[in-house]
Amino acid sequence: MRAVVHFALWLLFLLTLSCEGTLKPEPINYGKDSCAFCLMIVADAGFSAEIKTKKGKVYKFDSIECMVAYLLKNKLKKEELAAVWVADFPSKRLVRLEKVKFLVSEGLRSPMGLNISAFANEEELKEAFRHFGGKVMGWEEVVNYVKEKWQGRIGSST
Ligand SMILES: [Zn+2]
Repeated sequence: MRAVVHFALWLLFLLTLSCEGTLKPEPINYGKDSCAFCLMIVADAGFSAEIKTKKGKVYKFDSIECMVAYLLKNKLKKEELAAVWVADFPSKRLVRLEKVKFLVSEGLRSPMGLNISAFANEEELKEAFRHFGGKVMGWEEVVNYVKEKWQGRIGSST
């Protein structure tokens, strides 16, 4: 019996290890956690973002624009990053950056005013675009957009 228990624990341990291969975001405590860039409380699950480094350090953001600005300030090097997540607007779940496209729309106001939202599902993105208008962007475009709009904010303290 003892051996069986040990075996079960060992298996559990192995399973835990293999789960770390598929990185998961640390849950954001909405209304409590603060944004690593602007220091405001992360309140809206539709626009949040998170960065995890290879060392396991977690940075949470109240908006996608803050996450982009944080990266643009070169506070973190690309090779230090383990994963980046953004909120999928319709489901409010954190999904990998690689899986989304962005909508920048006046009709979808984000907490920090650049109105960037992310969509993991193409159909939902199209629907939001039909409904709210604006511009569909890829990651590079979003980075350039934040760089342009927040020049002062990003450049000022570097
Ligand atoms: Zn922020």
